[in-house]
This record gives sequence, C-alpha cells and structure tokens, in this order.
Amino acid sequence: MAIDELYRAVILDHYRNPRHRGRLASAHVHADGENPSCGDEFSLDLAVADGMVADVAIQGHGCSISQASGSMMAEAIMGRKVADVRQLTHQFKTMMAIEDGDNPVDPDRPGAVLGDLEALQGVRRFPVRIKCADLPWATLQDALAQVDVG
Ligand code: ZN
Repeated sequence: MAIDELYRAVILDHYRNPRHRGRLASAHVHADGENPSCGDEFSLDLAVADGMVADVAIQGHGCSISQASGSMMAEAIMGRKVADVRQLTHQFKTMMAIEDGDNPVDPDRPGAVLGDLEALQGVRRFPVRIKCADLPWATLQDALAQVDVG
C-alpha cells in the first residue's frame, strides 16, 4: 500500500469512527472553535487532574480532515501530562508548518511520537486545508489557556 493510501485510510478511519466523541459530565474546561473557510466546527471538553488530561471528549462536524484531526488529537492527549500536551501541540504545528509564535521545539524533550497524526502531514500540500487540520489544536490551545498548570 502506498504511503498516501495508508494515510488516507487512517484519516478516513478516524473520520468514520471518531475517538472520545461526546461530552463530559464534569468538564473542567470547555472550548469551541470554528474554521469558517471550510465550515468546520469543533468543541472540546477536558477534565484535568494532577496536571494530567484525565478525560477528554470531542464534538464537531465538518470535513474529514478537521474531524479526523480532532479524533487523533483526543486519542493522543488522553492521559498525558498537560506539559506534554503543550509540547505535542507544538510538534504537530511544526510538522504542519503552522506558525506557533516563538515557541521553539525543545531538543532535550523529543516528546511524543506523533503516531496516527503523521497521516495528516500530506495535508501540507493543500494549504487551504491546513486550517482544517489545525482547528482542533487551536481549540485545544484555547482550552489549555484556561488550565492553570504546566
Ligand atoms: Zn475543513
């Protein structure tokens, strides 16, 4: 299977079977995001305890790239330390060549393997879709801005 086909299959799997979909009964933080250029919407519940993402739930609708990115993100951040989630967010944006302020990757913290998220790197070839892939991560950053740890 060519790598592009593999990536497409991973994206479609997350789009059709999103992980951690729903709402949390007792979310500590909630954030909503939208990408008007494509009509994508995304919302995120996070429960944070002891500096870790204790639970996560996502909702949204829109194109396969935005929704698959959200599903992969939910899977990737579940159970992780908030500090590691911030690092992962930065690694993702670096992979996608998304501006993330002056927040350089720390070479001493290679951090998480991106796993399924690497399937989204092909989206870089379609600049108009990068905002789709970034929507859940921008929403995550809004949520993390409300968290007083890490
Ligand atoms: Zn989209």
